[in-house]
Amino acid sequence: MEKSLRPRVIVSKCMGFDACRYNGQTLPDKFVEKLKDYVDYYPVCAEVEIGLGVPRNPIRLVIEEGQTVLYQPATDTEYTQAMIDFCGRCFGELSDIDGLILKGRSPSCGTKDVKVYLGKTKVAGSVKGQGVFAAEAFKYYPHGAIEEEGRLTNFRIREHFLTKLYTMCRFRQVEETATMAALVKFQANNKYLLMAYSQKEQKVLGQIVANHEKLAVDQLIGYYKEGLARAFAKIPRYRNYINVMMHIFGYFSDSLSSGEKTFILDSFDKYRNGKIPLSVPLNILKSYVIRYNDGYLLEQTIWAPFPEELMDISDSGKMEDEVGQ
Ligand code: SF4
Repeated sequence: MEKSLRPRVIVSKCMGFDACRYNGQTLPDKFVEKLKDYVDYYPVCAEVEIGLGVPRNPIRLVIEEGQTVLYQPATDTEYTQAMIDFCGRCFGELSDIDGLILKGRSPSCGTKDVKVYLGKTKVAGSVKGQGVFAAEAFKYYPHGAIEEEGRLTNFRIREHFLTKLYTMCRFRQVEETATMAALVKFQANNKYLLMAYSQKEQKVLGQIVANHEKLAVDQLIGYYKEGLARAFAKIPRYRNYINVMMHIFGYFSDSLSSGEKTFILDSFDKYRNGKIPLSVPLNILKSYVIRYNDGYLLEQTIWAPFPEELMDISDSGKMEDEVGQ
């Protein structure tokens, strides 16, 4: 994989970059720490940036007249507009961002399941929502890989996050080059990864690149980016990857002994049954691609969409409901 590839990532500053939490603490995160050698981080603490200081009285999300507002009970002050204005300035300056890693459960940074009180008084009950900084980030970076640190302890969510992050980073290079040749090469090299994510979107993207309407390259790149975001909207199903691996297997299966075929197909089954990670059948397949020296297949990003050093198969086992097939 390309050595120069360094995704640009906005990260919640309290995760090991500064003691900026409301209580003056920092909460380092193992995964955030590990990524430091591989990405360019842009640490941000939105609550400090809007002038709340450290330490500070806690703020919370509350529903007031049908609107979700960011509220500080101790001072009876709303900070929603201040936060939205800050996001506009911050994200406006950081336009080439590939992803964000945000602190969960925060009324500013939490991406989901943040407590939203049903009124300004404590007894009012609560529902689940999204922090204001996170909600604005989803609007500004609709193509970005955005996750919170707690969810990234789940292996499949983490693998999906890294795949999307590095794919968007590669695509940023296409945007910078802004040539038809770069777009065609991107589509070719990502063919099987895209197929694994969404066969439908992979075809749509192929149509965009075919450019039957003779559109300008800038316009094509814009359409392509939207399609790419749709393709990476969800974690792919196991069977998508197996279909793609069967497809690649078809390139050389006629040349294999029955023992080799059984061994490869058995690895697909083990992956399907959750007994081994995806990297095992992929690496077995890749060894044959190397043996048969197929240049087109060798260049496919599906073999290593992100640096192998980040491939850590440890898993919290949490959130299976959200990623189940
Ligand atoms: S969760 Fe976000 S706003 Fe809260 S301390 Fe961390 S970086 Fe700052």
